[in-house]
Amino acid sequence: MSIRADVVVLGAGIVGLCCALHLQRRGREVVLIDRADGVGLETSYGNAGLIQPDGMIPIAFPRDLRTFVSYALNRRRDCYYHMSALAELAPALFKYWQLSHPDAMANSLMGNLPLFENSVPEHFALAQEAGAIEMFRPTGWTRAFRKEKTFAAHLRKLVVSASYGVAAEQLSGDQLRSLEPHLNSSLIGAIRFTGQLSLASPVKLSQAYRQLFTSLGGIFTKGEARTIEAKSRSHWQVASDRGVIEADAAVVCFGPWTEDLLRPLGYPLPFFVKRGYHLHFKAREEAELHNPVSDVDGGYSLTPMEEGIRLNTGVEFARRDDPPSVVQLNRVIPWARDFFPMGERVERQTWVGSRPCLPDMLPIIGPLPRHPGLWVAAGHAHHGLTLAASTARLLAEMMSGETPYVDPRPYRVERF
Ligand SMILES: Cc1cc2nc3c(=O)[nH]c(=O)nc-3n(C[C@H](O)[C@H](O)[C@H](O)COP(=O)(O)OP(=O)(O)OC[C@H]3O[C@@H](n4cnc5c(N)ncnc54)[C@H](O)[C@@H]3O)c2cc1C
Repeated sequence: MSIRADVVVLGAGIVGLCCALHLQRRGREVVLIDRADGVGLETSYGNAGLIQPDGMIPIAFPRDLRTFVSYALNRRRDCYYHMSALAELAPALFKYWQLSHPDAMANSLMGNLPLFENSVPEHFALAQEAGAIEMFRPTGWTRAFRKEKTFAAHLRKLVVSASYGVAAEQLSGDQLRSLEPHLNSSLIGAIRFTGQLSLASPVKLSQAYRQLFTSLGGIFTKGEARTIEAKSRSHWQVASDRGVIEADAAVVCFGPWTEDLLRPLGYPLPFFVKRGYHLHFKAREEAELHNPVSDVDGGYSLTPMEEGIRLNTGVEFARRDDPPSVVQLNRVIPWARDFFPMGERVERQTWVGSRPCLPDMLPIIGPLPRHPGLWVAAGHAHHGLTLAASTARLLAEMMSGETPYVDPRPYRVERF
């Protein structure tokens, strides 16, 4: 059996789903394929659920000696690296360090800006159609501080953010506790990003987008798509569990697995991953957490979700497929218990995922220059949930020959 479509979208994470919907809106017959049993079950499943329209300031590799040394000692809570992986990760991390130069980061910021600015309206446009608008909770995002020094440093950064329209308010310790009465009474203050939204279940948003996609005639199918082949110019063939899929164009949205498909095609892009973990906890006794909060000095975040309070760790530098490590969670859990009255763990199993990164902290969105009809939308690092819909509109406009609503040049593959 074979399926014929105009476009096959490879990968049904949040990015692939949004791309499929935007292509469908432009009259394309789309098949969406994923090797998982459903949609949004990988990186798009386990994230912190934040929609961060003001996340445009890229997260840079530390460049000052003091900070660099503190990372190198490998005792931090917000960042941990696998010593055994360093040699393999070194070339991409070196590029990340190079492109973390203030001038290069300023370029990345300007590149990021339009996608972030459009992130919420573009999600809302899809969510409205999908009947999912109420999933976007107007919680804001609060970053709480234990130490004066960290608080002061973040307040200084806020001046830069404010110049890009980031809406935030400074809270005293008492103001923080009136918002979240059960947080530790020794917290000295917080910054609350008021324009941020959060989801109680990121996977449910993916499922709502899938439902919209299939209700409009799109086909979702399970299949391992390592076997993509060019049958002719602009004609792609992919093997799936439902047979061969043939399409005039293909879009690769494999998140952290994107390089597995692109490298054999002759695109050795400097992808790397920043892994992260999550665990859910019940709240103790009468305690309640109303909104997502980060313990900045503790190096993790807590988001109230359907499953419980989701604790997400910071960054782990490791090979994507290395077995999970308990080091970072063991470091942060005692801090989290001190921060908020956490009860029992909801599940025994920890979740680990990989933020798909490129060294300039910009995604790739665009065509592959030597393969007509093959496109990519991947590499959204810390913000793929936020940027999925604004990315998808840009990609679909480019694929349809429309004037792109934002300048696509910062995201082109050729920059590497
Ligand atoms: C700990 C953590 C916290 C985060 N918090 C946030 C946050 O609060 N806000 C935010 O905006 N972002 C956050 N992110 C980042 C965000 O989750 C990712 O950027 C985003 O989910 C990437 O989406 P994607 O669709 O590109 O990748 P994925 O969701 O990983 O989707 C890729 C899909 O491709 C499929 N696939 C791969 N290879 C194949 C193959 N060969 N054949 C078939 N299918 C294949 C996979 O099964 C998968 O479903 C966080 C990430 C982590 C790890």
